[in-house]
Amino acid sequence: MPIELPRTLSHAYLISGGSHTSRMDTALEFTRGYLCEHGIPPCGKCRACHKVTAGIHPDVTVLGPDDGKATISVDQARTMRSNAYIRPNEGRHKVYIIDPADALLPESQGALLQILEEGPAYAAFLLLTSEASLMLETIRSRCEPIVLPPDHEDTDPELLAKADNLATLLIQGDEFAVMKGFVALEQEKISTQELSDLLLLTEDFVSDHLPDTHPQKYLQAGRVLDALRTAREDAIYNLNPGLTLGRMAAQIFR
Ligand SMILES: [Zn+2]
Repeated sequence: MPIELPRTLSHAYLISGGSHTSRMDTALEFTRGYLCEHGIPPCGKCRACHKVTAGIHPDVTVLGPDDGKATISVDQARTMRSNAYIRPNEGRHKVYIIDPADALLPESQGALLQILEEGPAYAAFLLLTSEASLMLETIRSRCEPIVLPPDHEDTDPELLAKADNLATLLIQGDEFAVMKGFVALEQEKISTQELSDLLLLTEDFVSDHLPDTHPQKYLQAGRVLDALRTAREDAIYNLNPGLTLGRMAAQIFR
């Protein structure tokens, strides 16, 4: 789903949440916004838009860790900083996509503070991270935040399958199968974090099922969602999973 860009773009954004794919898609849409020959919203069809999409626009730089490294060195950050003071080749802007921005070492983040604060007017910075809190506060305060909705791209397929299965059983109101599923989770000693993730995914799947749910099942689905939410709060507050799942079952099948 294409993101709707603000009418006037700021010079720096911190794009967090979503999956890696949705963060990069968002960054590319912003980049087309900075460089499109027709302004905002970007047309997606002009030469500049095409070059951005194809990854060959000379005014776009993607900065990430060097091969085999996990972090972006202070040298890389300084090189990018100097490069930003050289005027654009063909566009109105020069766009720097830093992915993942949390790979910037603290001193690399420090090296970028000034350019984020008062860089040349044509320079734009898009910082991508799964979690905004991974960045130094001084960086966060210099960027406009864009928080993407969760999507399942990065999620463990096994957990996805479990959640999908649990959602189906819950909506069908199959008490026996749900109980069996809970016992299995208990036996594999699911951690509270995993349980919380599972319950959140299951909420998503139950909501996804809703449009094609038989009207008689609506009430049931509403109760399932309430119970899932309560159980997830329990899991977050580190109650034991058995108690959490038992409570959830009691709420649904009362
Ligand atoms: Zn365009």
